[in-house]
Amino acid sequence: MTPSPPGEIAATLKRSGRVLLLTHVHPDCDALGSQLGLGQILTGMGKEVHLYGEAEVSHLYDFLPGSETVTVGLPDLPSFDCAVALDCGDAYRLGREMESLLTVKPFLVIDHHAGHQFFGDLHWVDPARSSTGEMVYDLAGALGAEVSPEAAYCLYAAMVADTGSFKYSSTSADTFRVARELVLRGVKPAEVAGKLFDNYSLARLRLFQRVLETLQLHENGRIALITAPRRLFAETGAAPEDTEGFINYPRSLQSVKAAVFLKEAESGMVSVSMRSKGRDCDISQVATEFGGGGHRNAAGFKRFDTTIEGLAAELLPVLADLVRRC
Ligand code: 5GP
Ligand code: MN
Repeated sequence: MTPSPPGEIAATLKRSGRVLLLTHVHPDCDALGSQLGLGQILTGMGKEVHLYGEAEVSHLYDFLPGSETVTVGLPDLPSFDCAVALDCGDAYRLGREMESLLTVKPFLVIDHHAGHQFFGDLHWVDPARSSTGEMVYDLAGALGAEVSPEAAYCLYAAMVADTGSFKYSSTSADTFRVARELVLRGVKPAEVAGKLFDNYSLARLRLFQRVLETLQLHENGRIALITAPRRLFAETGAAPEDTEGFINYPRSLQSVKAAVFLKEAESGMVSVSMRSKGRDCDISQVATEFGGGGHRNAAGFKRFDTTIEGLAAELLPVLADLVRRC
């Protein structure tokens, strides 16, 4: 049976004329692909749609059709009939305008994070789904809406990114069903893969070289740690978002159960990306303990007023405890 959104979500969207679409700060491809895809689907239904962003779309994702329609700055919030937050597991990840954005009623939430912290009024949260993009496709079905080739492209890119090219454990028969439908609507998988994975700058590759040199192994190779101190960005000319995907390399080691990437994105602020392998190795528990969140095998958090070394010293014993159990 095709999993479908709660009827109230589709009904609310059907009767709304003006819709505000939101996602999490520092949006990844699933976040943006879902926001742009749903935006195009609702526009195709004759609705007025506003795509809010806290910042300009990163150069990594400006290939997504319609990325130029994301608008920075708060719109006239009372003018909306509803808001939809996509791929956002926690209200705080709506960003610095969280409180204002949450005043839009009804506030709908569509998400697939396992540790979802409920907020807003109407929810469709399904951790069994690979990506929010996959859910948005089924929402279009419930709305009886067309999925244009541009919307299909955005949703497919969202799915490829969040499943690691259909590799992660979240990849299901529903994932392939939706991917098939999107390809039937004109998406070219090789083109999307090219934009996602063969589209990097030299600065990024130079940064990658330097970051790989920081590799440390702990707990008999069961934990792998890489770091990106602030100075590496200045020295290579790479931007903080250029580190997308680096965490996959420490994770790829055969012995590794848990991989961590500590990135000093701003002076004194360290953002932490973590990955684990297998059903029994739930890294989101570690992220939650440190005030963040995520999925069983991919999670993260941020910490202010700290250093890479200080945070590594705090984190390693907790990770050691985890890998001893899985
Ligand atoms: P990534 O390592 O790709 O940045 O993030 C992996 C997953 O961890 C994301 O899909 C997101 O669910 C979660 N995550 C990353 N950073 C944070 C954070 O600062 N707070 C929360 N709540 N979740 C995060
Ligand atoms: Mn996602």
